[in-house]
Amino acid sequence: MTKLVYSFGGGTADGSREDRSILGGKGANLAEMARIGIPVPPGFTITTEVCRYYLREHHNPEGLEEAVADALNRIEGRTGRSFGNVEDPLLVSVRSGGAVSMPGMMDTILNLGLNDRTVAGLESATGNARFAWDSYRRFVQMYGDVVLGVDAQSFEDRLAAATKLRNVPHESGLSADDLKAITSDFKAIVRDHTGDPFPDDPWLQLWGAIEAVFRSWNVERAIAYRRVHGIPNYLGTAVNVQAMVFGNLGETSGTGVTFTRDPSTGERRLFGEFLVNAQGEDVVAGIRTPLSIDRMAEKLPEAYERLVAVQDTLEQHFRDMLDLEFTVERGHLFLLQSRTGKRTTAAAVRIAVEMVDEKLIDETEAVLRVDPRQLDQLLHPRIDPNAATDELARGLPASPGAATGRVCFDPDDAVRLSRDGQEVILVRNETSPDDFLGMVAARAVVTARGGITSHAAVVARGMGKCCVVGAQDLHIEGKQGRLHANGRTLQTGDWITVDGTAGRILIGQVPTVEPEPGDDFLRIMTWADERRTLGVRANADTPADARKAREFGAEGIGLCRTEHMFFEGDRVQAVREMILAETGAARAAALEKILPMQRQDFIDIFRAMDGLPVTIRLLDPPLHEFLPSAEADIATFARHAGLSIDDVMTLLERYREANPMLGTRGVRLAILYPEIMEMQARAIFEAAVEAERQGLRPRPEVMIPLVATAKELAIQGDAIRKIATSIFQAADLAVPYLVGTMIELPRAALTAAEIAQEAEFFSFGTNDLTQTTFGISRDDAGTFLPRYLEDGILADDPFQVLDREGVGQLVQIGTWEGRQRRRDLKVGICGEHGGDPSSVEFFHETGLDYVSCSPFRVPVARLAAAHAALHAAVGPGRTSKARARRAEADASERLRLVRRTAAVTPADAAGPQPEV
Ligand code: PEP
Ligand code: MG
Repeated sequence: MTKLVYSFGGGTADGSREDRSILGGKGANLAEMARIGIPVPPGFTITTEVCRYYLREHHNPEGLEEAVADALNRIEGRTGRSFGNVEDPLLVSVRSGGAVSMPGMMDTILNLGLNDRTVAGLESATGNARFAWDSYRRFVQMYGDVVLGVDAQSFEDRLAAATKLRNVPHESGLSADDLKAITSDFKAIVRDHTGDPFPDDPWLQLWGAIEAVFRSWNVERAIAYRRVHGIPNYLGTAVNVQAMVFGNLGETSGTGVTFTRDPSTGERRLFGEFLVNAQGEDVVAGIRTPLSIDRMAEKLPEAYERLVAVQDTLEQHFRDMLDLEFTVERGHLFLLQSRTGKRTTAAAVRIAVEMVDEKLIDETEAVLRVDPRQLDQLLHPRIDPNAATDELARGLPASPGAATGRVCFDPDDAVRLSRDGQEVILVRNETSPDDFLGMVAARAVVTARGGITSHAAVVARGMGKCCVVGAQDLHIEGKQGRLHANGRTLQTGDWITVDGTAGRILIGQVPTVEPEPGDDFLRIMTWADERRTLGVRANADTPADARKAREFGAEGIGLCRTEHMFFEGDRVQAVREMILAETGAARAAALEKILPMQRQDFIDIFRAMDGLPVTIRLLDPPLHEFLPSAEADIATFARHAGLSIDDVMTLLERYREANPMLGTRGVRLAILYPEIMEMQARAIFEAAVEAERQGLRPRPEVMIPLVATAKELAIQGDAIRKIATSIFQAADLAVPYLVGTMIELPRAALTAAEIAQEAEFFSFGTNDLTQTTFGISRDDAGTFLPRYLEDGILADDPFQVLDREGVGQLVQIGTWEGRQRRRDLKVGICGEHGGDPSSVEFFHETGLDYVSCSPFRVPVARLAAAHAALHAAVGPGRTSKARARRAEADASERLRLVRRTAAVTPADAAGPQPEV
């Protein structure tokens, strides 16, 4: 460890924004602001390296004490005040700040340095007794809570008793004497809770605070935040110690939070809130309702002008939208923090595009500025403008979108209910970091208090979750499980709909409509498409889905699950007849009913995807999904098929399987009942012929599911090609087509070379491949997977984010093996992972030709594919091709090892055997 502490202030700084990993985001930006002459209170940053050392060794590294003393000395020099001085004491703030911003997750101490003597100095220096005692009161409260672990409620109760006694709505109505008595009681509370007196020595206070910040890196909510946002645990936090400036020194002082552009819409205007005569925590805590930043122009005109100029300088310098915290102390503006502003996706898109037009960034940078993981925010539904709505209350539109769910007042209940599959809306007076997991679980968040920069608003926006804050008409009685608003009462479990775009809370389940992405979105997507190499198709089962997919930019269909067509209307009855038929003739008769319906669907899909490939999968799912199970269903089917209920029950018993997911499904079904495959193949090729006659360019790709051996595919492939040939001959017309397979069983991936001999394309079915590689049933994962995630046994749900080490390895081996045998083998993936950005990156690196995902996620996949290509291109020789080659080489090496091991017989492996 070299330098432990970095100073800043007075127009200079030891560090800069390049030092983010050691100074944290906050420290690096404070240094940078100081360097470019922005007024920041002087201070210093203790590096993240020191934090890591402390957490590892449980004590501070050698030399830290001297370095801190020296840096504090510099603050004293710059402010002309000294630490612990009884006449005009230097007070400091102590804040955490990791390399990645974690809003509200870590703790802050203000006014450090106060004790019974220095408080008098503060009083005489400012001539304001109330201010001095209020500062001291806040300090003891915060320090007691954050550093000494005293239950925060004890302080709140004491404050509430005081405001009640004085009959004032808020603590701002308390006098200096009141605050003096409260401070003294607070110290008694600390003594009672900890057994020790409150530390009076400013140096002891400082070290206590510094170490508390280090430890706060590992508090539960910080760990939870990092887990959700994929932030590595080893990074550690820096500690920023800074001279205090005061926004609560009267009417010429104030404090605020502002964004350089509107974080909801991206519009270029100063956007934020401020409070006159207040300290920073008042704005964020949502206790007093702040004023819009525009009002600052009237209230504090000079400081406002300065703020406008400073924010402009900062945007030009950082070339991004920033989130600024400032304080005005007796008319002087100080910036306390600047960081990249969190924004909705709509804002991210607009800001990126406008910054390209303003020549601040280039198109590539613009593409990288939009996070694909949040893109579906833009594609979120809105409240149907024609729907009848019953408004319960209004609040501030903190994060756009619309969501419906059941009212839930408790974050733990929200977690539990959502785990049980319920849709809940978390309704709170305000949120705190302790509510974080409940917010993750909820479909939307509503608060009765707080502004647009309150905790709830910032966190929900970050998650892309619909949110309304400050709905002041809500009177929440959480413990009783009810709320009142405007003469109405709702109970826990009642349905509401949240309109995060307009800030409305509506009663009941209100219909929503699909979003229409605007021009800025289209420009970003065009730039993304120009930069990606991976193809993006859609999983679409119906003509309507296919049309939607094309609108979203799909370059074909990667998976059409034909069984989904069978669930429409009463088609399923014919399918049931077909499955339960006792003779081939009866089965054929049932299939004849289905054929025209399938054919028409295919024609419509070919029309929607004119000129683009359409991968049609033959019937796959386990039969039990089609068979009637409910009593009423069984009776309906018996009537339909002219059978008795007993007969139907006997048939059902015959088809019952202990483990249908691993039973008669996929290609096995076609082997047992070739008529089904024949009907489907006929429907596909007859539709192709018809489409071609209509002047369309159908490009069918017939896909066989759940293949384990090359032989299965050979049998099916031959049969399908024969059917195609006979239909084309009869029509005197030929349509180009392919026959390929899904790779969704480990055996198929491992024997991909043989399978490729029979297949013209592969599509990895990573849903089944994950199921069969992990041995986790897709249907039953819900019972234990959440626990695995909670305990950190798995970092992600492998059905959402591809397991690169295991399943990913099979994808690499399968791709490499397949292409060894057939150079032009087309390889794609059509499991759920096709729309997951992290998995898309992996597929790009593995050199796949395309991913296929649900229509709504197509833009996500397009953008993720562009990010993957751009990230891969960073650094010499790290082109996507080079990476794909490396992935292939890895796979080939692994394969060599596997083969070598497999070639060793068990007897060899056991060593020399005795002669028999
Ligand atoms: C898969 O297994 O990944 C797949 C796409 O097929 P299904 O989900 O229909 O089994
Ligand atoms: Mg599958």
